[in-house]
Amino acid sequence: MGDRAGQDRADERQAMLEWHIRARGIADPRVLDAMAAVPRERFLPPSVAADAYADSPLPIGHGQTISQPYIVALTAEAGLLKPGDRVLDVGTGSGYAAAVYAAIGAEVWSVEFVPELAEQARAALAAAGVRNVHVVTGDGTLGLRDHAPFDAILAAAAGPDIPAPWIDQLAEGGRIVMPLERNPGWQQLVRVTRRGDDTELDDLGAVRFVPLRGEHGLR
Ligand code: SAH
Repeated sequence: MGDRAGQDRADERQAMLEWHIRARGIADPRVLDAMAAVPRERFLPPSVAADAYADSPLPIGHGQTISQPYIVALTAEAGLLKPGDRVLDVGTGSGYAAAVYAAIGAEVWSVEFVPELAEQARAALAAAGVRNVHVVTGDGTLGLRDHAPFDAILAAAAGPDIPAPWIDQLAEGGRIVMPLERNPGWQQLVRVTRRGDDTELDDLGAVRFVPLRGEHGLR
């Protein structure tokens, strides 16, 4: 987009990066560059596209929301994403987070439960010229056995515990970043790292996500 409107959007994106992402402690240059490169407005319905650079979740239909930019950045940074990583993104939603992970240079398999959202996300990703995201319709709590192992499994919806298939499908040294809701109404973002037969858990703080559905989900 070389036009005036495109430049205004790029300026808004820079301001978002400065005030909502960098100022809140995200420092990984790969994440910052990817956030600067992905036009969030392209993943929103026209009715809310004007608010694309507010740091908030926004409705995308079917009772779901596009993730808040800071949360996408935090998840990517915590997942230690790097070019060439194989990533499982659970909860495609609008496709925005998947596009950010792809902009880091990862190969992304993104699973969405709601077929209409998966279809919309495919169209948005194609229109934005993103090629390294494969959108799959289904229950992401089961993982994607045919494409495992993954270097990172990143979830945009809160579950009661780490789904067992994700641990099985994680590469050695691989990271799961997901919100856990072990007690109703209280969620924490965690990172689980696979070290041989063991896992290591880091608490990344309190968060607020929509519920993960499906076999290993909340409801
Ligand atoms: N990262 C997305 C955020 C989407 S919100 C974005 O940037 O737009 C979470 C999404 O998870 C919703 O679209 C919801 O339908 C989906 N979801 C919930 N449970 C799921 C499951 N078990 N498998 C796949 N997707 C799921």
